[in-house]
Amino acid sequence: MSGFVFGEKPIQIESGEGPFVYDDGGTEYLDMGASYACAPVGHCHPDVVEAVESQASDLLFVQGSYPTGTRTALYDRLADVAPGDLSNVWLCNSGTEANEAALKFARHATGREKVVAAKRAFHGRTLGSLAATWKQKYREGFAVPENVEFVDYGDGEALADAVDDETAAVVLEPIQGEGGVHPAPEGYLQAARDACDETGAALIFDEIQTGLGRTGTLWACEQAGVAPDALTVAKGLGSGLPIGATLVADWLAEDSGDHGSTFSGGPVPCAAALATLDVLEDEDLAANAASVGDHLRAELSALDVRDVRGEGLMVGVEVKRGANRALKSLALNHGILALPAGRTVVRLLPPLTVTESHADRVVDALAEEL
Ligand SMILES: *Cc1c(COP(=O)(O)O)cnc(C)c1O
Repeated sequence: MSGFVFGEKPIQIESGEGPFVYDDGGTEYLDMGASYACAPVGHCHPDVVEAVESQASDLLFVQGSYPTGTRTALYDRLADVAPGDLSNVWLCNSGTEANEAALKFARHATGREKVVAAKRAFHGRTLGSLAATWKQKYREGFAVPENVEFVDYGDGEALADAVDDETAAVVLEPIQGEGGVHPAPEGYLQAARDACDETGAALIFDEIQTGLGRTGTLWACEQAGVAPDALTVAKGLGSGLPIGATLVADWLAEDSGDHGSTFSGGPVPCAAALATLDVLEDEDLAANAASVGDHLRAELSALDVRDVRGEGLMVGVEVKRGANRALKSLALNHGILALPAGRTVVRLLPPLTVTESHADRVVDALAEEL
């Protein structure tokens, strides 16, 4: 064993199907975290597997300066489903890179440096995105750039006060994920939109966790009726193959500077993303996320817990006695995998294919353990 970054779990996973993964002894686990939200259409969806296999046998990779039909189709598809008029697409390999690109494009187009972000925010772990990430534990010892101002999430006035004519960008999650599952209060995203419109700053929505139907609509910002100047997506986009995207408005794309990446828009992750978007639409999974999510949150609210928050199938359960303890007993006693969001929140980000009976299994297990 030579990995040193991940804290490894005592279960070795070897296969997956739908909402389930299986360990090396064949034991089944209900993956209520969708493996960091990377399996929105379930594990090994046959359409995604077929698209990947077929693309892999045609062409594994070609340098990005040559267009491919697969990449062009994904550009068109993403532009088509983007909120507002974010019809320009930059493809990369992860969430943090999607945010790095958004921040770079915003700085280049505005000629400004300052970024405004929210306390509790998580935007990734490369230095630019990390600078807009709040948690000290992630920042310590890395000489993180200091040009980001943090404001309380949810306070529109504080945000407006921080944004001025030196601000390149405001970056926000429509629902904070890693920070504890905190939805934006009513009017907050619009306040951010107004502050950016008044000062010429770019509004970036990080929908890496909230996007792709998880909150009941394809993008969470649709529910607030607010379109950003740049939107980032990754995690489930390629059903686990590494791909992220930055969708940007014309004014950011026209003066975006020189950015690039060797693997940008490689055909295999693009094929996985196209197939994933097809399944999301064909199986109407955003609607399923809305209805199963409503059921799940209502049932969870009846438990002995401090709070239940979220939208659709992005759910945070604030427990009384530590999330890690609850997560361990869910996995070992009930065969259910979930995620933490800080010390006290159990986070559920299941595949959007789960049913009410999967949801009930989690509720029953939590009722027993809490
Ligand atoms: C996971 C996540 C990221 C970072 O994505 P990576 O692919 O791990 O770099 C950024 N923003 C949000 C909201 C996330 O949930």
